[in-house]
Amino acid sequence: MEHVVVFTGAGISAESGLKTFRGEDGLWEGYRVEDVATPQAWKQNPELVQAFYNMRRKSVLAAKPNAAHLALAALENKKKVTIVTQNIDDLHERAGSTNVLHLHGLITKSQSSIDPRLTYPIVGSEITMGEHCELGSQLRPHVVWFGEPVPAMELAIRVCRQASVFLVVGTSLQVYPAAGLLNEVPMDADVYIVDPHASELQIQRPVTRIARKATTGVPHVVDQLMA
Ligand code: NAD
Repeated sequence: MEHVVVFTGAGISAESGLKTFRGEDGLWEGYRVEDVATPQAWKQNPELVQAFYNMRRKSVLAAKPNAAHLALAALENKKKVTIVTQNIDDLHERAGSTNVLHLHGLITKSQSSIDPRLTYPIVGSEITMGEHCELGSQLRPHVVWFGEPVPAMELAIRVCRQASVFLVVGTSLQVYPAAGLLNEVPMDADVYIVDPHASELQIQRPVTRIARKATTGVPHVVDQLMA
């Protein structure tokens, strides 16, 4: 069966009300990335980092999957589909996708600050300072920060090497190592890119560029793949 691998970034969740990362101002929800999404930030000001992700988590919980997430879930009726996402929201899962690999973690979980393999569900929307993992260390968000290893990369590479169709949605392809996954896709796979700025992305292989927002562009590609 044809294996459709979908590689998503913040742009797929933009129309659900979750801001992308590289806005016009270069900030993420008003913050410099260095101040909220790095191990150094956590070391220097854990309260600020925790509060930042507590706010992001509230927005995620209030957001709903959009037509793009829903179309990808429906594609499972016809194809083998694996979603490899850079997003830390759970909108793919809530749309009904059953095979989702989160490269950068999941904001709805917490993680030990000394052993990233220890993760926990979060009751409510906040992690509080003073909440500890079973080893006694402060709990932090289960997200991969800049400069941290990406443990799911190896599996993601294996998945991308099996793709017969590769659909890229809403990513600026600037964050490595994730952005390098496109290089793992077999040369005979069909590659589609849905992004309003699709024409500006530098890609060294033939691709079909669909310069549309995710909520119209993704259902359009999914219709073609289901036909
Ligand atoms: P990015 O912000 O660097 O790029 C977003 C891309 O989405 C851009 O190419 C932009 O043109 C496109 N875009 C904007 N609106 C769109 C729409 N309506 N439909 C389709 N595309 C649209 O995002 P990235 O490449 O994913 O990298 C950012 C990093 O930040 C990721 O590692 C991710 O973990 C994190 N992040 C996650 C979320 C989330 O989970 N929702 C939100 C912000 C940032």
